[in-house]
Amino acid sequence: MDLRDKISLLRELARYDCEVPLEDYIYRAHTPVGRKPLLKIMQTTYCEKNCSYCVFRRDREETPRVFIDPEDLARGFMELHRRGKVSGLFLTAGVFPHPEVVMERMIETVSILRKRYGYRGYVHLKVMPGVSDQTLEAAVELASRVSINVEFPKEDILRRLARGKSIRSDILPKIKRISELLAEHPGRDQTTQFIVGAADERDEDILRSAEFLYRRFGLRRVYYSSFRPVRNTPLEGKPPAPVRREQRLYQADVLIREYGFSHSELPYEDGNLPLDRDPKTAWAEKNPQLFPVELNSADLHLLLRIPGVGRRTALEITRRRREKRLRSPEDLKGIRQVNRILRYVLLDGRFFGR
Ligand code: SF4
Repeated sequence: MDLRDKISLLRELARYDCEVPLEDYIYRAHTPVGRKPLLKIMQTTYCEKNCSYCVFRRDREETPRVFIDPEDLARGFMELHRRGKVSGLFLTAGVFPHPEVVMERMIETVSILRKRYGYRGYVHLKVMPGVSDQTLEAAVELASRVSINVEFPKEDILRRLARGKSIRSDILPKIKRISELLAEHPGRDQTTQFIVGAADERDEDILRSAEFLYRRFGLRRVYYSSFRPVRNTPLEGKPPAPVRREQRLYQADVLIREYGFSHSELPYEDGNLPLDRDPKTAWAEKNPQLFPVELNSADLHLLLRIPGVGRRTALEITRRRREKRLRSPEDLKGIRQVNRILRYVLLDGRFFGR
């Protein structure tokens, strides 16, 4: 298999662990400097672990196994970068033959990019559970973003589905150490990912963990990835998680991250977010005593809790009411979702909602 075939195969396989497909196996992803086309690729598809949900698990015989040499990968990436096809790299891998060994290869790849080719652009480096602190330091030194996947909100679920991994004794200490290292590298950050729907975990558990990770370790983003069954794995018969569930988790995540909500305020039904409406609307329905809100006097915190009001709209409302008192829907002209907002507000004491 030549280099081109290897890169093509590894890119294709990396789709199992990816976000939005763009073209030619390149993905657009949110980075600290905006949305970028990234080459998302695996250093190797070999893995010594046997996670029940994963296409790369050790016992899955039909998964093609390849390893790409750091020199080749760095050269291949730079070629794509020179041609303007990609503006960043997301480098991940299976765990083989040992976390430390595969991380060393990944770090070597990024080191070649940085030192030999002088590449200063975006690199997201996936960190393997089980690596040493010294390796973590090297990863943080070279990457723009590092991530270590928590996968599940509870230790017992992770142990059941990904034997050999531990949130308490391995993943959390690594996240903590990364956040300490990042304090010395402004502009770099860390993220993590949860798999949604592979076990009996509830949205409440996932969002409690996400809030903890944001508040305690300053993670930049938590990603939620809907479970999809993979043929010839122990979970092949399990139904896929609804994409709508993933969408509701992302909406709730924004409420926690940017709108001052705590996970415990969110409108769960048996521990899960309702699928038929967004979490902020469901929260407003559960708190009718707070509405309607007088738009002329509500503080920013309360404005952000009104369904239909995002940060930009809240700031626009505060700007307009500084200029004059808001008395009618005309005064909200040009504001997005105004009919929805009117259902939850008063304008100078009057209700205009339908
Ligand atoms: S360690 Fe990662 S690549 Fe390996 S089986 Fe588990 S999830 Fe898949």
